[in-house]
Amino acid sequence: MNKKRQAIFDKSGGRCWYCGCELQKGWHQDHLEPIIRVSELVRDHSNGQFSHKYVNTGECRRPHLDTIDNLVPSCPPCNLFKSTFNVEAFRLEIQEQTDRARETSVNFRTAERFGLITVKKEPVVFWFESNGMR
Ligand SMILES: [Zn+2]
Repeated sequence: MNKKRQAIFDKSGGRCWYCGCELQKGWHQDHLEPIIRVSELVRDHSNGQFSHKYVNTGECRRPHLDTIDNLVPSCPPCNLFKSTFNVEAFRLEIQEQTDRARETSVNFRTAERFGLITVKKEPVVFWFESNGMR
């Protein structure tokens, strides 16, 4: 692990900044305040059929936030779900997950109806908050 990556890993002692799981190989460096990478839709013919895909242009909309102070260690699922959200928007998205699951998943509704799932109406607290970071 290079020095910069090690410094980011050490911010949490090897835990995901958000959910607190132990980081595994392939963990992500998340921009706490998103930098918003620019991508463009391009036509792709690499597999013999025409399709479209998004390609990162290498630009970002807020390059001043691409600093080690703004980078935190994250598990891939948290980083990918957080996407371009800031922390408060990420929290709101997580809080809506049970309502979305209830609306869209018969499996969720069945499990809830038979008492296999109990939804807690509590605020989402990130690992870094319950561990006194920032
Ligand atoms: Zn996580």
